[in-house]
Amino acid sequence: MTSPATCHWHPDRETGLRCGACGKPICTECMRHHPVGIRCKACGEPAPLPTHAVSPSYFLRGAAAAVGAGIAGYAALYVLLRLVPLAGVFYFFLMLGLGYAVSAVVGAAVNRRRGPAYQWMAAAGVLIAVFPTALGALANFSVGALIDLAGVAVAVGVAWTRLAR
Ligand SMILES: [Zn+2]
Ligand SMILES: [Zn+2]
Repeated sequence: MTSPATCHWHPDRETGLRCGACGKPICTECMRHHPVGIRCKACGEPAPLPTHAVSPSYFLRGAAAAVGAGIAGYAALYVLLRLVPLAGVFYFFLMLGLGYAVSAVVGAAVNRRRGPAYQWMAAAGVLIAVFPTALGALANFSVGALIDLAGVAVAVGVAWTRLAR
C-alpha cells in the first residue's frame, strides 16, 4: 500500500488529484480548471504573452520608430546624395545600409521582437526615407529610375529579412 499523495502546497492534505501538466498532487484549493483538464496553480496561470504577439504598446513604439527612422533616413540620404557623388554600386551599399538601419531602429524599439507586423513597419520606414527617390523614379521612367527602384527593393528586402521571425 502506498500512502495517499498529499498536495504539493499543503502537505497536510491528502488528495487523489494531480496536475495534468506537471503531475504534482494538488488539493481542490490549489486546483485550477483548464480547457484541457485540471492544472495546479503554477501550471494554470495564463501563459505569458508570446514574444511574437504584437501588443498595442509595442505596435505604437515600432510604428513611431519606423517613422522616425524613415525621416532620419530621408535627411541622411538628402545630404549624402548632394555631398557625395553616389553612383552604381555605392548606391546599393547605401540602400543596404538604409534597410539595415531602419530594421535595427525598429527592432530596438520593440525589444528585438520579430514578425510580420514589424516587417511592415520597417518597410514603411524605408519607403518614407526613399519616398522622393521612388516618386521621382516613377515619374521619370528610365533605366536610371529602374536602378533607383531596384535600390529601394534592396533596402526593403534587407529590413524585411532582418525582422523575419
Ligand atoms: Zn502543474
Ligand atoms: Zn493545496
